[in-house]
Amino acid sequence: MEVRNCKDCGRLFNYLSGRPICPACQKKLEEKFAEVKQYIRDNGGATINQIAEANEVDPKQIKQWIREERLVISDDSPINIECESCGAPIKTGRYCAACTANMANNLGSAIKKPKAAPVKQERDTRDRMRFLDKL
Ligand SMILES: [Zn+2]
Ligand SMILES: [Zn+2]
Repeated sequence: MEVRNCKDCGRLFNYLSGRPICPACQKKLEEKFAEVKQYIRDNGGATINQIAEANEVDPKQIKQWIREERLVISDDSPINIECESCGAPIKTGRYCAACTANMANNLGSAIKKPKAAPVKQERDTRDRMRFLDKL
């Protein structure tokens, strides 16, 4: 076991794995997470700053939860996080669909695709499928 300083409150604690946060701060964070999750459910149109203010949470923390796919943002929410590769607005995870596809093809660093709107593309495909269903 390893002893570390808590990143949040600075107290020493027995570090196991994951983020270097002591059990007390971890618990507090989990409570905040539950609050934020509930708040987003009740306030679908809230921005990250509004959520941060209302729940006294760091906006960075909220983005972190979204990246970890713990917080799920609806399509009509004004909230966006940035693709870590090209900066395109995304709703979840670390990369936009275009960058994910690039990486899957191992072309990530070689080719820069224009910024796409991945969510919309998916929708178009779904609409087309729906249309085919009717035929
Ligand atoms: Zn702590
Ligand atoms: Zn991207």
